[in-house]
Amino acid sequence: MKIILPPNLPNREKKRRNDYLRSMSQTLSTEQLNRIADHYGTPVYVYHAEKITQQFSRLTEAFASSDSRFFYACKALTNINILKHIRSLGCNVDCSSVNEVHLAVKAGFDPKNILYTSNGIAFSEIEEAAGQGVNINIDSLSNLEKFGRRYGGTYPVGIRLRPNIMAGGNLKISTGHEKSKFGIPVEQLNAILALVEKYDLRIAGLHIHTGSEIRDVEVFMKVADIFFELAPHFKDLVYLDLGGGFKVPYKENETGTDIELLGQKVAEVLNKLQQVYGRRLQAWFEPGKFLVSEAGYFITQVNVLKESATAAFAGVNSGFNHLIRPMFYESYHRITNISNPEGDKKHYAVVGNICETDTFAWDRELNEVREGDFLVFHNAGAYGFEMGSNYNSRYLPAQVLVKDGAHHLIRKRDVFDDLLRNQVEVL
Ligand SMILES: *Cc1c(COP(=O)(O)O)cnc(C)c1O
Repeated sequence: MKIILPPNLPNREKKRRNDYLRSMSQTLSTEQLNRIADHYGTPVYVYHAEKITQQFSRLTEAFASSDSRFFYACKALTNINILKHIRSLGCNVDCSSVNEVHLAVKAGFDPKNILYTSNGIAFSEIEEAAGQGVNINIDSLSNLEKFGRRYGGTYPVGIRLRPNIMAGGNLKISTGHEKSKFGIPVEQLNAILALVEKYDLRIAGLHIHTGSEIRDVEVFMKVADIFFELAPHFKDLVYLDLGGGFKVPYKENETGTDIELLGQKVAEVLNKLQQVYGRRLQAWFEPGKFLVSEAGYFITQVNVLKESATAAFAGVNSGFNHLIRPMFYESYHRITNISNPEGDKKHYAVVGNICETDTFAWDRELNEVREGDFLVFHNAGAYGFEMGSNYNSRYLPAQVLVKDGAHHLIRKRDVFDDLLRNQVEVL
């Protein structure tokens, strides 16, 4: 059951692949998840390769009428097998640290398909990335000056700008507003241009990432407007990078970003810009969550049920050490009881076992929960495992990949020695 065909297919092949993708279910069944939980134990993260494939196909179809390139923002989920799968689809990769650059190289990405969008980093890290020959977006005047001094016009480079736009699911995941640390504020255009002149810099791209969970296509159009004004100042542009932040549905009945509409609008913008700029520019995107969020499931097991006058608690064998998004961002993750899918509906506070306030959901309707039941957190592919820690000296969970109907362990659960691995016993 092979569905991953090479990216540049003739149309007929493309259509066949897309029909096939649509026809097969892109969610893992309760039975599959139960089997995996029984087989590997819990807590365990499970990722569905075909769902990632489907999301990528949706992007490439939606943007087929513009010259768009996609760079998977791999901080969402960096397991090397996920990176390899994403590379096999013909997708590029966006890195947020030089270590991610090295991971991407290790996963087989060609340096020209790797983008390093830095923020607040030491210049030595930029030099290290440049040594690999990857695309780089620089986010401060200070590093841009150092870059100019070191490379002059020999290494085309992108610049990350701060547009002073408020967007994103909430302030904690907004990166483009006027108090944000990210990017060079657009009002400093003259200072940028002075550096370009002084060092003969070749600015290959302009980059703006306004934040995460942006449902409104108009936000991207505001960014496009800013690019419209700025582009004529930079004669060497190749790409305009609109960042990531596409929203995916987390709740039942929620809608994500209208990718198809965005694809149309971006094509229009690029056409109009061609007339002003004189050349065709590429649109670059850095989707993280969009590609992997819905492909991920986090399976936990109920340790303890506790009743009180105010709530019934379902205490699971996990906590914010494994999935911090609900506590950090007040994110909503759908939860299902896969051990009792037909049980009566009841309300629970779903909590973890960490010695801190550690609530996944305060008042959630679930099929009746019994001790030992498996509870699944959905949309756990992005920023789940990656933000995990060993807090309370607990183990990081195992990770499993389901691909072509088979499951594979792609990261072992920690063992006790992992907790001591880097400790130096001096007493
Ligand atoms: C995190 C990040 C992304 C990805 O954001 P998503 O919301 O996961 O799509 C893209 N670009 C940059 C620069 C980022 O920091």
